[in-house]
Amino acid sequence: DGSGVIATVRTTCPYCGVGCGVAGAAGPDRALAVSGDRQHPANLGRLCSKGSALGATVGLGGRLLEPTINGRVASWGEATSLVAKRFRDTIARHGRDSVAFYVSGQLLTEDYYVANKLMKGFIGSGNIDTNSRLCMASAVAAHKQAFGADLVPGCYEDLDEADLVVFAGHNAAWTHPILFRRLETAKARGQKHVVIDPRRTDTAEGADLHLAIAPQSDVRLWNGLLAEIDRRGQLDLDYIREHVNGIDAVREALVQDDQSPAAVAADCGVAVEDLLTFYDLFAAYPKTVSLFSMGSNQSAQGVAKGLAIINTHLATGRIGKPGACPFSITGQPNAMGGRETGGMANTLAGHMDFAPEDRDRVARFWGAPDTARAPGLKAVEMFEAVRSGKIKAIWVMATNPAVSLPNAGAVREALEKCPFVVVSDCVETDTTAYAHVKLPALAWAEKDGTVTNSERRISRQRALFAAPGQARADWRIMADVAQGMGFDGFGWPSQGSIFREWARLTAYENKGSRLLDLTGLAAMTPDDYAAMTPIQWPVRVEGQGTPRLFVNGRYQTPDARARMVPVRPKGPADAVSDAFPMSLNTGRIRDQWHTMTRTGLAPDLCRHAPEPFVEIHPADAEGLGIKDGALTRVSTVRGEAVALAKVTDRQRRGGLFMPMHWTDAFAPSGKSNHLIAPNLDPTSGQPEFKHTPARARPY
Ligand code: SF4
Repeated sequence: DGSGVIATVRTTCPYCGVGCGVAGAAGPDRALAVSGDRQHPANLGRLCSKGSALGATVGLGGRLLEPTINGRVASWGEATSLVAKRFRDTIARHGRDSVAFYVSGQLLTEDYYVANKLMKGFIGSGNIDTNSRLCMASAVAAHKQAFGADLVPGCYEDLDEADLVVFAGHNAAWTHPILFRRLETAKARGQKHVVIDPRRTDTAEGADLHLAIAPQSDVRLWNGLLAEIDRRGQLDLDYIREHVNGIDAVREALVQDDQSPAAVAADCGVAVEDLLTFYDLFAAYPKTVSLFSMGSNQSAQGVAKGLAIINTHLATGRIGKPGACPFSITGQPNAMGGRETGGMANTLAGHMDFAPEDRDRVARFWGAPDTARAPGLKAVEMFEAVRSGKIKAIWVMATNPAVSLPNAGAVREALEKCPFVVVSDCVETDTTAYAHVKLPALAWAEKDGTVTNSERRISRQRALFAAPGQARADWRIMADVAQGMGFDGFGWPSQGSIFREWARLTAYENKGSRLLDLTGLAAMTPDDYAAMTPIQWPVRVEGQGTPRLFVNGRYQTPDARARMVPVRPKGPADAVSDAFPMSLNTGRIRDQWHTMTRTGLAPDLCRHAPEPFVEIHPADAEGLGIKDGALTRVSTVRGEAVALAKVTDRQRRGGLFMPMHWTDAFAPSGKSNHLIAPNLDPTSGQPEFKHTPARARPY
């Protein structure tokens, strides 16, 4: 305002699912100072390295600032009219399912709502899926089977109150650092930590117990634990009697495998003493939180892993109580918001499914008689359908599938062949190279709307800068295209009005039947929306959130009882072979985010791991003639990457680990996702990023 005083704006970090509050002070020339928001319950003023470096990532280098059509600058009217016309014409000639949207956990809830309303409601196809498919889909499917809907039981206070925390395939120290600091504080007070991970990660380093299990042996381990608890007479039979179905079927499945500690330990590749220590810890501390994340979800048996964890909690009554729950932690800042609004191909908005009564309810609410009647294609299948020519027009929003999907080379082929590709993003990416139409979207520092974090907490993201160039909000771009296609119901004046409509949808014909209920937010005024403070759903009454679910033991199933679901262990989708004798695992590193389009701009964040690397155990390295720090080839049946060897006994023998971040812009030979087989969990469609048969050799 010219006074020299820079106003502080309270917003939310755009990276991980912890959902930290950020206080941002914008200065001239896009200078930005950030600190943790002390009033935000998720982080209470703390930020990790990525959040702290946000100020270094908001420059305009590499930004998309004007719409283009085949490389030529176009007006917004011209660009959105062309997108509307090409989608309309494609649908007229080839049917509704010949078009698709591939969207992102980086979108705000309002954007997600509009994308879903347009594709499922008015275009009438289920073909909208999100990159959360790569991250959360297995946990979603497990929640739906066990609880009746995609409901995350816990809250972050449970992490403080637990006596035992089990990290199931979750390197929280790197992937969710602020939650991990909270857990370190609790550990200093005596909380016990068990880490289940083939790698000795930073999370495992300080743990009381590290179980370096063989790849994909998680179900065997959790089933063994449940059988042992049963043997010890420690099932919570009262809780089961009152609230849980399925115990008999689960017991029948358990007896089909040898559940002796010796047999379980052998199959999981851990010492019997360590396994017994795990069993003893679980038996000793009823206040247990089991955190599960990518190591559990990114698997061809990811749903079974989630169910095995949930079964153990249900059978011991460790749910709906302070310090006790199975807790799926999301990777992205708004993976949860996307799940809520129907961003996944197999759900409708508001946790409604394609059952006729749900579908009709959503169609009535939207006044959209053509609302899709069946699920659409999930991410990997969607790009296969583009490659085979079934999908002829695709719109990719705020994500970079040319790098991030498994078998990424085939994704590039698909995009190359596709007759019409639209990409809306804030920056040029590997994927924008394939776009016929590029649409400039707002970046984090200019966006305004809401996100939901891992504990169901809805927070505001607020703009720190005015929109640069011609960039526009994603919701507005989609609303313009929808109106260009001739659809009513997309004339919102602001993101706040979209949020109110979304909240009303969750309340529509609800009467307490669905826990995803925002009735208490549906009457917000624009001022209320502007000033909104973080709140956890369900919000049935204005101003009253709900930290913990299932406190009364009632679930969202028809009989209000939870369901234990029998699961049996299976090996990895592709077994190792003489040609590819090792198991390649991929994942995040501490200071980078996804395909580095933002974090790659911050020099401080690039110092932690400046180049692509591959971790290998010293004995394997010696046998293969690979020296620490030397260029190393990693190959699978799908291709080859080159990375620097990190010889370390943190890596399990027979395993390799590569980060998943590098792209054409940063280190083309270090890309790892084009090596990964598109093996999917049959229910969730989530790819098995954590195991691909591979070999390594000196460059
Ligand atoms: Fe951002 Fe996650 Fe770090 Fe918090 S923990 S500052 S949300 S990256």
